[in-house]
Amino acid sequence: PPPVEKYEYQAEVSRLMDLIVNSLYSNKEVFLRELISNASDALDKLRYLSVTDPELSKDAADLDIRIYADKENGVITLTDSGIGMTRQELVDCLGTIAQSGTAKFLQALKDNKDAGGDNNLIGQFGVGFYSAFLVADRVTVSTKSPKSDKQYVWEGVEGSSSYTIKEETDPQLIIPRGTRITLHLKPDYKGFADPERVQKLVKNYSQFVSFPIYTWQEKGYTKEVEVDDDPAESKQDNQHDQAERKKKTKKVVERYWDWELTNETQPIWLRNSKEVTTEEYNEFYRKTFNEYLDPLASSHFTTEGEVEFRSILYVPPVSPMGKDDVVNQKTKNIRLYVKRVFISDDFDGELVRIVSVAVFPRYLSFIKGVVDSHDLPLNVSREILQESRIVRIMKKRLVKKAFDMILGISLSENREDYEKFWDNFGKHLKLGCIEDRENHKRLAPLLRFFSSQSENDMISLDEYVENMKAEQKAIYYVASDSITSAKNAPFLEKLLEKELEVLYLQGRLRPRQVLDDLGCSVIPLNHVITLSVLTGDKNEEKEAAAKKEFGQTCDWIKKRLGDKVASVQISSRLSSSPCVLVSGKFGWSANMERLMKAQSA
Ligand code: ADP
Ligand code: MG
Repeated sequence: PPPVEKYEYQAEVSRLMDLIVNSLYSNKEVFLRELISNASDALDKLRYLSVTDPELSKDAADLDIRIYADKENGVITLTDSGIGMTRQELVDCLGTIAQSGTAKFLQALKDNKDAGGDNNLIGQFGVGFYSAFLVADRVTVSTKSPKSDKQYVWEGVEGSSSYTIKEETDPQLIIPRGTRITLHLKPDYKGFADPERVQKLVKNYSQFVSFPIYTWQEKGYTKEVEVDDDPAESKQDNQHDQAERKKKTKKVVERYWDWELTNETQPIWLRNSKEVTTEEYNEFYRKTFNEYLDPLASSHFTTEGEVEFRSILYVPPVSPMGKDDVVNQKTKNIRLYVKRVFISDDFDGELVRIVSVAVFPRYLSFIKGVVDSHDLPLNVSREILQESRIVRIMKKRLVKKAFDMILGISLSENREDYEKFWDNFGKHLKLGCIEDRENHKRLAPLLRFFSSQSENDMISLDEYVENMKAEQKAIYYVASDSITSAKNAPFLEKLLEKELEVLYLQGRLRPRQVLDDLGCSVIPLNHVITLSVLTGDKNEEKEAAAKKEFGQTCDWIKKRLGDKVASVQISSRLSSSPCVLVSGKFGWSANMERLMKAQSA
């Protein structure tokens, strides 16, 4: 037999393996994600290289990944038909740290230590292959590169400073191309070698790896088998026709083992958006987010250049939150993939929540979707998500796309679509007006208002502008807690006389700043002189009589003061002062102020 050669690991590798096993990854199951990711990379490489060199994939093997779990022996075997490794590559890739991800990991660890930091950094980097030792005490890698005519076996044992390489000689284990990794599980982790568990993990972590992943599963089908007739009976009753006899069957389940496709092979976001139907986008939405209603809109796009990612975003049909709650900090609406591998550190999805919060400002937290990044590390952590430049750039692009998508709804021929949107998410956008000044230009065209000329249907600023009088220089608005009090704004009357349209801003969240930035003119709500005519208790009859008596006086004062006041009114609120000027020009009346306080309490 060919010789078995022994090699020493590079010192860093030994250290890394130590670290991984002793302090990294509290959840061991990530090993499968890492190995599948490597297999997928190897298949990607083969696929990519075969474009220019078709010879590489001449060995007909399909591009796929197969995972076999041997429960009895506690062994998991993962085979891919990817690019494989030559003998030298085995040494370079699995014996030294030349690889970018791992090298960066160690460097960061070192920098962090030098800076007196703790080990918080651990977990930020995908340490890939060596995570196999989280669950296995012996790992073999049997691999065949198209560049070599021999297949080699690498073998490493946990805790050892050396590994071996020999030629594969067992004819049963010879593969045309690719890599077979065998994990001999540690006694404590033999439970991972369970076909069902493997299937679950694959579904969870790698559902959208673009190569088929097959797992070895027990299956069954039901078939009918004939049951022997009671011989005594058949003798007696010879006339029974054949059809009747055939009825004497029973159903049995035939069990067998076979490869079962365990993932969706083609992630929808990798497909050309021109070839995906709306129904497919909707189905993906319903399936991914466990929804039963279709989304209001979707947007599928790819960005390249500074950062590279693909994404499908959705506007949900309804707001999941109660009427008053605008922001849900527990949102898990954005699913992040790194090179098609779903990023989630646990089944609880804490990382998904952090992702969701990292890529959208909170007022847009209702947007759902998937984002598949090409640049982020597989083992992306909370820190990376919160601090990385890549994520910041992604956020910018995603926000822009989300706005485009919402604008798309607003431009829809079906006006009801946007009315539905505004009904559900108008308050979010109004919050955006308060919290995100940078995006005022994008928010403005999405806002809707009731107005003096449109009290039942909301209008957009564009519609307002279209409706402006030739000589009109400004957009007028009045802010109040209800349309009724807006209508009572004294200055309104004058504008309405001139048939100028006035927007009503009511409710708790008012996009005033946006309007002010646009140079809109606010209509002062209160600027009222109150005359004291009556004293003491409020008495409607008395008040009416006083109004009659002093109405002309009020008119006269108003005429004299002209534009300086909005109106002059009779009041029963004063006792000793003869009159009072109510409220500053742009302020609330005392009454309004009280209302506001009550509202925000
Ligand atoms: P990374 O994937 O970040 O490069 P890993 O530790 O996961 O780091 O893998 C180290 C290297 O080993 C890979 O870059 C690749 O060259 C090689 N490798 C690992 N698994 C496979 C495989 N299934 N087929 C071919 N090469 C592999
Ligand atoms: Mg890897």
